Amino acid sequence: MKKIVILGGGFAGVWSAAAAVRLRDKQNVPRHELSVTLISPSPDLVIRPRLYEQVPHDVKVPLRKVLGPLGVDIVTAAATGIDVQASTVTLDGGHEPVPYDRLVLAVGSRVVRPAFPGSEAVHDVDSIEAAEALQKHLDSLADTPPSRARFTAVVVGAGFTGLEVATELVGRLRELASAASAADDVRVILVDKAEVVGPELGDGPRPVIEEALDRLAVERRTGVTIDSVDGDRVRLSDGSVLEAGTVVWTAGMRAHPLAAEVAAPLDRLGRLHVDEYLAVPGAPGVYAAGDTAAPEAAPGHPVTQSCQHAIPQGKYAGHNAAASLLGAPPLPFRAAPYVTCLDLGAQGAVFTTGFERTVLHTGETAKDIKVKINTEWIYPPVNDVEALLDQANPQSARAS
Ligand SMILES: Cc1cc2nc3c(=O)[nH]c(=O)nc-3n(C[C@H](O)[C@H](O)[C@H](O)COP(=O)(O)OP(=O)(O)OC[C@H]3O[C@@H](n4cnc5c(N)ncnc54)[C@H](O)[C@@H]3O)c2cc1C
Repeated sequence: MKKIVILGGGFAGVWSAAAAVRLRDKQNVPRHELSVTLISPSPDLVIRPRLYEQVPHDVKVPLRKVLGPLGVDIVTAAATGIDVQASTVTLDGGHEPVPYDRLVLAVGSRVVRPAFPGSEAVHDVDSIEAAEALQKHLDSLADTPPSRARFTAVVVGAGFTGLEVATELVGRLRELASAASAADDVRVILVDKAEVVGPELGDGPRPVIEEALDRLAVERRTGVTIDSVDGDRVRLSDGSVLEAGTVVWTAGMRAHPLAAEVAAPLDRLGRLHVDEYLAVPGAPGVYAAGDTAAPEAAPGHPVTQSCQHAIPQGKYAGHNAAASLLGAPPLPFRAAPYVTCLDLGAQGAVFTTGFERTVLHTGETAKDIKVKINTEWIYPPVNDVEALLDQANPQSARAS
């Protein structure tokens, strides 16, 4: 019996598993000849792109409901090491090492929070636990004594996530402050060491973003970062001090450190270089997908750490891992045309196309698209083998 092991139960891991099963079924190969095992510390697929929102009830989807009906073996554990020579993965929790014939590394990314005095008091929205902790903290503000800091939030990082957090926080803080008869006390301040907001989003959408921030009265402190947090006092690198009861860190994503275990070249985000089939050169039998891999989405443009790229990468990696065991032709990775949709809270959203990020929609039109993405399009079918396998085809119209 041959075995495909997938590490990670995020978007890339889930779609890798589905695509591997799809090819196995298509080739009429029984499960006892080729098994697919998915290993993840969480029993759920976490819908990470929604973690800037007030934590929604459906922010996670049980993996067993998505992949169980396909016969994927789901192991709830964290991988602690990869031995490429021995083709085994070690796990925590007293599990035996797991051998593999093909491995798909899809363990995602995490925000990098630098250590500075008081950094332990800073929030982030990188995991459900962190987003829930932020929510709990915000809910507790009404019970704290009135002060300038109480309904002031500092958001560090004016990139994609920071902008979504800051614009969302305006609405959440206004609601909380109004209930405490302190509506005028709300302040949201975006801090970024770059000189502009959305430095990586480029010039295209910036005027729309700036206008939305102006309308929402989000203040900007660019060209600086945080030096320390001491209670409500947030000291910036230019020596100035802000009084803020809430600080959220969003800057800097890196691939999961397990990517480095493969002993292959990494890019500046810690992602593995892969060939056009998403195989890791120099690591026989190992594929990488999602936020841990850095294939090109278009000439000269590596994929972004995004669902939009993680989902199709998962499909190609799972397909190709299975194809290499079943004697089927591998498929070179093809990304769908690049788009972004940035939520701007009560000011709608901005939808762009291409790596030059040409603005196509703004306001409510873009917001409607964002809501569809967040509540429908990024969710895999549940308890529906046919729909899942249909979408798992890397070359289907809905490949991303
Ligand atoms: C607040 C926020 C907003 C975002 N907004 C957008 C957006 O608007 N559009 C967009 O396209 N993208 C967005 N993203 C990025 C998007 O969420 C990621 O790019 C996407 O989740 C990557 O998918 P992945 O499967 O590679 O990794 P992840 O979704 O991070 O999944 C990684 C999986 O690996 C598992 N894992 C971790 N450690 C181990 C281990 N040791 N062993 C085994 N498994 C492990 C995790 O439990 C998880 O199941 C956003 C992210 C955040 C945090």
